[in-house]
This record gives sequence, C-alpha cells and structure tokens, in this order.
Amino acid sequence: MISALMPTYDRYSLQIKSGSGCYLFDAQGRRYLDFGSGIAVNSLGHCHPKLVSAITEQASRIWHCSNLYDIPAQQKLANRLVSNTFADTVFFNNSGAEAIETGIKIIRKFHYESGNPEKYRIITIDGAFHGRTLATISASRQKKYITGFGPLVEGFDQVPFNNLKILKETIGPHTGGVLIEPIQGEGGIRPFSDDYLVALRTICDENGLLLMFDEVQSGVGRTGKFYAYEWTKMTPDIMASAKGLGGGFPVGACLATEQAGLALTAGSHGTTFGGNPMAMAVSNAVLDIIFEKDFLENVRFQSSLFIKHLKNIINKNASLVTEIRGRGLMLGLCCTSKVNNSELVKTLMSKGLLTVPAADNVVRLIPPLIVSTSEITEAASIIEDSLKHIANKT
Ligand code: PLP
Repeated sequence: MISALMPTYDRYSLQIKSGSGCYLFDAQGRRYLDFGSGIAVNSLGHCHPKLVSAITEQASRIWHCSNLYDIPAQQKLANRLVSNTFADTVFFNNSGAEAIETGIKIIRKFHYESGNPEKYRIITIDGAFHGRTLATISASRQKKYITGFGPLVEGFDQVPFNNLKILKETIGPHTGGVLIEPIQGEGGIRPFSDDYLVALRTICDENGLLLMFDEVQSGVGRTGKFYAYEWTKMTPDIMASAKGLGGGFPVGACLATEQAGLALTAGSHGTTFGGNPMAMAVSNAVLDIIFEKDFLENVRFQSSLFIKHLKNIINKNASLVTEIRGRGLMLGLCCTSKVNNSELVKTLMSKGLLTVPAADNVVRLIPPLIVSTSEITEAASIIEDSLKHIANKT
C-alpha cells in the first residue's frame, strides 16, 4: 500500500529533531556535524539567532499581502542585490527551479521583444541540474529525471562539458542564450575554468546571445565570493539564485541586466508567494550577516584550511579518494572505483558527519558558511576515520 507521502524520496532513516549552528540532533539526542547544510541551503547554520529574531518579529506583523501591493522589504532586498552584483533588476520567487524558469522566459521574451522571436533555443551543458519543473528537467536533460515525463519542453540543445568548440558549432539562427552553472553541483562539483567562462561570454556577445548563470547552489557566499561569477573577469546577463539566499526559508530570485529584465513587461510574469514579507525579512537578515566585514574572508580561510586537511587525507588514501574539487565551501571529494560515494556518505553519517552524494562518485562537502576551524578539523578527522574503516573492509 502506498504511503501517505508520495514515494519520491529515498530517505535515510534519520529523524532530525533540532539544530543549532553547524550541528543537528536526532530524536535520540545524537549530534551530527552538518556538512550538507540541507543541500547548500542553511548558509548560516541552524537557528541562527539573528534569523530567528527576524522571522519571529516579522511573524507578528504581516506574513502575506500579495504582489498587488508594495512590499518595502522586497524593494530593500532587490536594491541590495542590485548594488552588490552585475544586475539592475530582480524578480523574486520561491525556489531555484522557479528562478531558472524566470530566466528561461526572459531569454525567450527578450528576443521576442527585440523582433527576433525565432531565437528561442537555449544551449545547456551535459551534467547540469537546473531543477524539477518540466522546463528545467528539459534544460538539464538528465535521463534519470526525464524518463517518463515526455514530451519535454522544446528548445534546449545540450553540449558536452568543457567543450567550447562544440558549443560554438551548436549555435544556430534559433539560438537565443546559454544556461550554465559556473560550478556544477549535482553534477559532481565540476567547476568551469575562469578562462572557459570568459571565452563563453565573448561567444555570447559575438552571437547576440544572453548568458544566464545558475548560481542556485554556488551563490550567496558559498564559494567565498557573494556570487561565483565574481571569481572571473566576466558577468552574466541573467542569474538565478535561491538555496542560501533564504538561509532555510524558501526564497528564489532571478537577477538580470536592465536590457534583459525589461522584457518582463507588467502582467507578463508573476507569482502569488514570491517576495512575500516573511521571505524578505529572513533574506534581508541573511544578507546583513553575509555582508558583515570579514564574513566572506572567513569562508575563504576555512576553505583553505579544509582543502589542506583533505589533500593530506587524499595523500594517505590514494586508493580510495583522488581529488578535491570546487571553490570556497562548495567542495567535492572524488572517490575511486573502490569506493561508492553513497556508501561513504552512510559511513560518515554513522560517525556523526552529514554530507551529500553527487554525480561522478563525489561526496559533497558543503558546510554552513559560519563553520569554525574546530568544526573543519572535526569533519576532517571523521572523514579520515571513515576512510580507514572502508579500507579495513576492502
Ligand atoms: N539549480 C541548481 C544548480 C541546483 O542545485 C538546484 C537544486 O538543487 C536547482 C537549480 C533547483 O532548485 P530548487 O530545488 O530550489 O527548485
């Protein structure tokens, strides 16, 4: 008999009861160091006092009033995102997939408004993950996510990872844009080089294409910059943000340049919940902290410390783990064929460290951005211990 919950998730048998900082506690009171952060969402850890206070204060004033009316905190958050990124304008929604959908619609509408409605196709990259709506699974085109859900949304052309030659050859008279994660998250923490992204910007400019970044996972401080594109000498035209932007409260945002954003004329796009006062209060509180002096500097410092530990672990366990990929606190530990990443994730969990598997036999290490030196050291020690445990079994 089917459960009252649809069988979409293959869950671990772990019931989280509460959280504080970088730690979670299960029903039996066991403590876990959370290096999964609810899949890169809990950017400020669990129950950060400033977020608790922002949401509590907001809850006693107004939760929802609809986008029929002015929402001052929405304007404030948009101003802050605009002042601190390439973007001139922002649309708020509730999730990563919705932010991507908004961007896809902007690309199509931009070319329509410019008198080129035929330029509706978007190039995406093999291994991408952009969400679970019909358009976003059509964009990502991963077999396990599209099987049985056809016909897909038309208009996406996928090219191999890190291959600009094929990308260039794929551009045709109907191509309107390119959608890319600067570091593929679900795809196994696979970063594109800065040179690749700069060259991609040039290709888009030469061909009149809009370049859209999916920074749903890599954004809001995760890589040690506010957004990952800042590591490069280029900017996108459109960018999707979510996950860490709400620190655990559902918030999504699609950012765009003025030229691109103007395409979404009044009445052409909308949402009931997006940008509601509760979400905006929490997200503004998240930015208060992310923008504190030295916050991002500390993310970069903890990252370099963690990478040092991990390189040391790789040197000692070369038959089990090969490489550490990623940037800031968006890191992936690559396993050899002797280790199954999901098994390693379970072993780590049994020893008190929560992580998340990704494609390419990778274990994602994505701690809250407030992680401390002692927590990094504790995580490294659990990883070393778990690999020892696995080595003894093989
Ligand atoms: N884009 C990227 C890069 C993601 O990692 C995810 C979620 O994991 C999404 C989009 C979809 O976000 P959501 O699950 O909030 O719809």
